[in-house]
Amino acid sequence: MFKRQNSPELHKKRKEMTLMAKITVDEKYCKGCELCIAACPKELIALSQERITEKGYHPAELTRPEECTGCGSCAVMCPDVAITVER
Ligand code: SF4
Ligand code: SF4
Repeated sequence: MFKRQNSPELHKKRKEMTLMAKITVDEKYCKGCELCIAACPKELIALSQERITEKGYHPAELTRPEECTGCGSCAVMCPDVAITVER
């Protein structure tokens, strides 16, 4: 049976898929350049104010993990390939 594209079932499924997404920042490579912060369309990334890497940078971190869609923009933008996206 045909279902509309914006059916409640599809909306629920999309939400479940979104909830499975997350990013991991490898602090060995992060230099705190903030390019990933500018790249995230949902403004979910910030530099940690509590942590400093071995090289002396405040590393990037995901501030609201529940909102990450796994779009990958941050990982593509990172010049040091420090971000891994899981979905
Ligand atoms: S773009 Fe990469 S190196 Fe720059 S702050 Fe983000 S994770 Fe760190
Ligand atoms: S995967 Fe997309 S939504 Fe998630 S933190 Fe990166 S840019 Fe933002």
